[in-house]
Parts: sequence; structure tokens; C-alpha cells
Amino acid sequence: MTTVAAADELDSALAQKVRATAQFLQGAVLDYGRVVYATSLGSESLVLTDLIFQHAPQIDVFTVDTGRLPEATLELLERIERHYGRRIRVVYPQSQTIQNYVADHGVNGFYRGLAERQACCSIRKLEPFKRAIAGYGAWVTGVRQEQSSARALAQPSEFDARFGMQKISPLLLWTSDEVWTYIRARRLPYNPMHDVGYPSIGCAPCTRAIEPGQDSRAGRWWWESPESRECGLQPRKLPGSISDL
Ligand code: SF4
Repeated sequence: MTTVAAADELDSALAQKVRATAQFLQGAVLDYGRVVYATSLGSESLVLTDLIFQHAPQIDVFTVDTGRLPEATLELLERIERHYGRRIRVVYPQSQTIQNYVADHGVNGFYRGLAERQACCSIRKLEPFKRAIAGYGAWVTGVRQEQSSARALAQPSEFDARFGMQKISPLLLWTSDEVWTYIRARRLPYNPMHDVGYPSIGCAPCTRAIEPGQDSRAGRWWWESPESRECGLQPRKLPGSISDL
């Protein structure tokens, strides 16, 4: 096993958490064989990608380009590839489905209502995600318990009936401070939008900066009620119903 290069720059509690997370990822490979991780290129994703590339390189990493990502996110993808000297697979939505959606609802039809927004997320995120993870034994997610009341209900390892495979959440007990301490200690490239009020970054038209003290996901689909603010990859209310890139 590769040693954690940043361990001596982290306090002992976080260094221990890093080691446990790396071992958890390695255990997932032993337990489930083919494991896949869809990076959203957000802060948690940087930690997970770094740990996977160092300690569990058998895990396949990809990202979904919805076609509506901020330019800063695509630039980050290039910087990550340069940082590690390796290519990250990019999966795209099906163009005909997007054309049909736009014909019915317009290019920004997701603002019209919850059904239109969820249909757009389904076409641009969920379908390519499902296509990319098909055939794997487990998928890795970067959710943390403190992100929302829904995510507080998640388990580190649980069967995800929606996708027919195990769901692994290695960062569940990490705090936002720990995520950022790790990113800085490891000098990882990150999205500069995080420095100007965007703790959670999705598609450009559906993400805005938050005010100090607001929930970290308050800038995502801000025009909707908090209960509906997931995109289909994570459970919205209870385990077993649905939910993020
Ligand atoms: S976040 Fe917005 S633009 Fe992106 S897939 Fe969902 S509704 Fe569509």
C-alpha cells in the first residue's frame, strides 16, 4: 500500500481518517471486484480521486459532462489530468434525447417546474451515469453526512437497489474543514468558484453563490423547495427512494 504522502502535514486525527478511508476503498475492491467512481469535480471528489489514484487504482474513475457545466469545471478537469498525468474518461448524454427535450421545453426548460428540471437531470446526468456504471459491483459516492438531512441518513456501505449494486460512501463522516485541509495539504487543483461562494457546483444555470451561513447546497436549484434538491443519484428523503454529481 502506498503511504499517505500528506499524513505528516495533517493532524493525527485527520491522518488516521485518511488511512481509514484509503483502507475502506481498498476493501471495497476486495469485496465487490469492479468498482467505479463518478467524480463531480467538486471538493469531495478531489479527495476521493486523490485517494483512489494513490491507494485503490483498480477503481475506474469517470465524469459526466452534462453539456451545461461551468467553464471553470471543465478547466479543472484539464488541470486534474495534468496534475496526475492521466486521462479521466468523460461520458456524455445522448444527443437525440437532449434535442427532443429542447424541442419540447426549450434550452432552459428546467426552470419551468420540478418535472422539467428532473427530466433534464435524468437526461443529462442520470442516464449517462447509469450507462457508465452498468456491470460494476459497486459505485463510490462523495456524500458527507453534514451536507443535508437526507445525506445524514446514508450508510458507509449499502445496497443501492436503484442501480443494483453496492453504494460506497467513504467520506460520510468527513467534515467540510477536513476536506479542505486535505486539499490544501496535498496541494490539489480545485475549482476557483469555491473561493467566491460556491461550496457545491453543478451545471452553470442551476448553481449560484450562497450567502454566509446558508446550507452548502442552497445554491443548487435554489428556486425549488429544499426537499427536491437532488438530481437523481442520491436519495431525496429516505434510503430506498431516490437523489449527485
Ligand atoms: S443541473 Fe440543471 S442543466 Fe444540469 S442536468 Fe440538472 S436541470 Fe439540467
